Amino acid sequence: MRYEPQVSGDGNGWVECSLGHRHWGRYGAAGLLITDGSRVVLQHRAPWTHEGGTWAVPGGARDSHEDVVTAALREAAEETALDPGTVRPFGEWVDDHGGWSYTTVVAQAVAELAPHAANAESIEIRWWSIADVDTLPLHLGFANAWPHLRTLIGR
Ligand SMILES: [Zn+2]
Repeated sequence: MRYEPQVSGDGNGWVECSLGHRHWGRYGAAGLLITDGSRVVLQHRAPWTHEGGTWAVPGGARDSHEDVVTAALREAAEETALDPGTVRPFGEWVDDHGGWSYTTVVAQAVAELAPHAANAESIEIRWWSIADVDTLPLHLGFANAWPHLRTLIGR
């Protein structure tokens, strides 16, 4: 797929889902889980962010014109200095709350990646062994998605 950087940001804003939570992302949100088959790239969230200090995937609000893969790649590029050409998306899992959803796009690394924190939203971005993920303090949304994502990776 082609990656077309755009700076519109019309997805930035809070919404209330049908479960009564407040979420960031007027058109929902998307994140990117990069794997090499035995490891995944996770983001240690900055203290000032929602559930700061926990680990999750890089991601954020979708813009109105973006499909989930475009949004996930854009957010990952912003937060980890990822070259979108070095990953190949192969699956996704949707956490749908009604009126708001978070889609985690799973992507295979197709080149050597050295992801690192590229903006203020992260303390650290690094590879973790898949076996170690459950030992980390996880963002609640990611903790909920992880069993499903792990299954997708294992296929
Ligand atoms: Zn919700």
